[in-house]
Amino acid sequence: MKKPVIGLTTQQDVMVGKKISRINQPYIDAVIKAGGVPLLIPVQGEDSLSEDYIQALDGIIFTGGEDIWPHYFGEEPMKEVSVISHDRDKTEWGLFMKAYESGLPIFGICRGLQLANVALGGTLYQDIFKQVQNVGGHVCGYNTEEGYHSIELEEKSILHEIFGEKRIFVNSEHHQAIKDLGRGLRVTAKSADGIIEAIESVNDKFLMAVQFHPEAMAQKHDEYVSLFKRFIERCSK
Ligand code: MN
Repeated sequence: MKKPVIGLTTQQDVMVGKKISRINQPYIDAVIKAGGVPLLIPVQGEDSLSEDYIQALDGIIFTGGEDIWPHYFGEEPMKEVSVISHDRDKTEWGLFMKAYESGLPIFGICRGLQLANVALGGTLYQDIFKQVQNVGGHVCGYNTEEGYHSIELEEKSILHEIFGEKRIFVNSEHHQAIKDLGRGLRVTAKSADGIIEAIESVNDKFLMAVQFHPEAMAQKHDEYVSLFKRFIERCSK
């Protein structure tokens, strides 16, 4: 059987004065472990190839990385928002919308969750540590292979089906989070301090997104590989 081809968006960096598109290896490993063929989507600076990617792919993972330019949700940036890439935003914006409209299965991780929410009309906290009262820790540092804070899963959600538990532990590497939810979405997990940690679509689209990094935990914990397996199974349909 043909393995599903899974697009992975990439992060923009500058190395020796030259722009590069890069990705953290655990994303690639997780897709392969879960039975997919990873295909990297470089930062392009525009979205003219979106239709071509959608034709070539069976599913797409919007990965973590830079903050989304706050003007996409109608706000001036706070000083805490310093790592942005217009090239990446332009590449991913049209790609997300076209993938969503065409019904291509979508999995959003960290920035990917935020992109999905904003593209569907939602907003973000630009910096939870400044904007959310009594917020807990959401930056666990280098140890992303292990859990950091807990999240509570909504019943009848994809996450709850996979983990079969009400409460799981996840890593955390974000200073932003969903404020107002975009259309066609429901919240499926929250941390104890009320931060939205997972969403999925309520319509016939397959869209799930998490604020944590399952690809990093998948290196040591098979349950997190199951998240990718569930997504990739859906991509083979
Ligand atoms: Mn978190």
